Amino acid sequence: MFVAGNWKSNKSFNEAKEFANVMSAMSAMPEGVEVMVAPPTPYLAAMGQLEWPCRLGAQNVSATGPGAQTGEYTAEMLAGCGVQDVIVGHSERRDGHGEDDEAVAEKVNRVLEAGLRVVFCCGESLQDRQTDVHFDKVLRQMGSGILHLPVELLDRVVVAYEPIWAIGTGLTATAEQAQEMHAAIRGWLREAYDESTASRIPLLYGGSCKPGNADELFACADVDGGLIGGAALDPESFRAIVDAAGRVAATRMHVDTNS
Ligand code: PEP
Repeated sequence: MFVAGNWKSNKSFNEAKEFANVMSAMSAMPEGVEVMVAPPTPYLAAMGQLEWPCRLGAQNVSATGPGAQTGEYTAEMLAGCGVQDVIVGHSERRDGHGEDDEAVAEKVNRVLEAGLRVVFCCGESLQDRQTDVHFDKVLRQMGSGILHLPVELLDRVVVAYEPIWAIGTGLTATAEQAQEMHAAIRGWLREAYDESTASRIPLLYGGSCKPGNADELFACADVDGGLIGGAALDPESFRAIVDAAGRVAATRMHVDTNS
């Protein structure tokens, strides 16, 4: 299981360091759960120096390489700051900052070339869902962002399904809606690659996931964790979501041992 927090443009630098201190003072993260936090970009270099029980994520990366690109930052620069995972294709970047499929695919490439892991976001709008094109939309995003990758790079790909209508709105996909989309993504990966690759890639759900609904969402067979926005800002609520993932991880490990 994998639980990733995306702070977006929230928290002062001091608040960010305090969050890391609080997380460090908590009991060990549950077995079988990887935990990542993506703070605002200006904090990354300093947070990469801290000892805390979270992988360090970036919320964005440039599609460009080094050189005369004022204001941009490369995937290698992120790696040099201790970043391990990079979120690419978040709907707030696609819709709010004009990132098209081509730019998203280029960012995926840059992250993987730098040796980092990519958290690739996909998801449909409310209108897509109401007009019944949500599966087409998400699988098309998978095709344009992922399909060009050779299979050996897929070990560093995490997919986050985030219905846009559920992000920051308090509306959550039902467990059935999450599971059916995750099953479709898993099926797409199986066809595009193979069974073992498809079963290894973590599929995260994102969209108003919180302590009160995490158990139900994570219990879905094809949900392997969550990408968490608002509920990742408070260490206690983030930890409660991590613990929900821990309960599911324990069950899955038990099933694996007994099969
Ligand atoms: C997100 O932005 O990736 C997200 C899931 O946000 P929230 O949890 O606040 O809906």
